[in-house]
Amino acid sequence: MPSFRLLSLLAGIASASAPTLARAEEKELTLYTSRHYETDEKLYTHFTAKTGIRVKRIEDKEDELLERIKREGASCPADLFMTVDAARLGQADALGLFAPVSSKLLEERIPARLRTGTWFAFSTRARVIVFDRLRVKAADVRSYFDLADPKFKGKVCVRSGGHPYNLSLGSALVAHYGEAKTQQWANGLVANLARAPKGSDTDQIRAVAAGECQVALANSYYVARLLRSAKNEDRELMKHVGVVWPDQRGNGTHVNVSGAGVLKTAPHRDTAVQFLEYLASDEPQAYFAAGNNEWPVVKTAKVDNPALTSLGAFKADKLDVTMLVRNAGLAQKIFDRAGWR
Ligand code: FE
Repeated sequence: MPSFRLLSLLAGIASASAPTLARAEEKELTLYTSRHYETDEKLYTHFTAKTGIRVKRIEDKEDELLERIKREGASCPADLFMTVDAARLGQADALGLFAPVSSKLLEERIPARLRTGTWFAFSTRARVIVFDRLRVKAADVRSYFDLADPKFKGKVCVRSGGHPYNLSLGSALVAHYGEAKTQQWANGLVANLARAPKGSDTDQIRAVAAGECQVALANSYYVARLLRSAKNEDRELMKHVGVVWPDQRGNGTHVNVSGAGVLKTAPHRDTAVQFLEYLASDEPQAYFAAGNNEWPVVKTAKVDNPALTSLGAFKADKLDVTMLVRNAGLAQKIFDRAGWR
């Protein structure tokens, strides 16, 4: 029979460890994210200040994080996975990593086309055409299809066809115009290239400013980032670069997203949903978007970003994010056939 001393010792351990466990469950959240913007920091400190819940953040590239989640399996400490691009979020979903989330608040605040049953978009970004102001008129680049027009032979710069930003644009074109027309577009674009695809979106903007090409594709936040850059030379180079919202007369400019979902193996499921709901509230929406020069998904959130405002209002494509995911594989096939490496 155990002695009284041993019993009281065991009781002591039990009472000491129970609150610790409860506290760990309530007060901590682990986030795997490929968003690497300093301004996001404000989001987490604000959440902690409001709720007392600490956010442990692990940043890496999307592919590394996905590999890590798969490798860690049931012992994965992450509650949430956050990344950019609909096709990438769709890929995580296809791997079965996300748990279904049903939240009235998320459904009310995030437009239906910007969420699925498992992941939610929290900001949007547009894929725009940038052009050399000296050599090209805005009227010549009204549509993505202009990039495939022989008038721009040897004048187009673009990043890899395997990059999710281009794949999501390809997916949108497939959804609106079908496979054959998207194939024609990709073939025409490749035939117009000024150089083999390389570098980032920012590199394409710089190439236009340097006169290496006359037109290019880039996400809107890269344009805004250069416009608001602390470096004088960045703001100078943007004086040579014009920006158009493509397809204003058609379906509207292609819009991609940044988003997040709760992992199936999340140790703190309820807190993870609470964090997503927090991200959909007005103030964090404004940080989340403005920090990286994006737009909030929630209508009531304020946009206070002079660089974005300077680009003017535009009509955004209203395509459902699930369509971007659904067509990504076909878009890749089309780009491969076109030789868009
Ligand atoms: Fe980016």
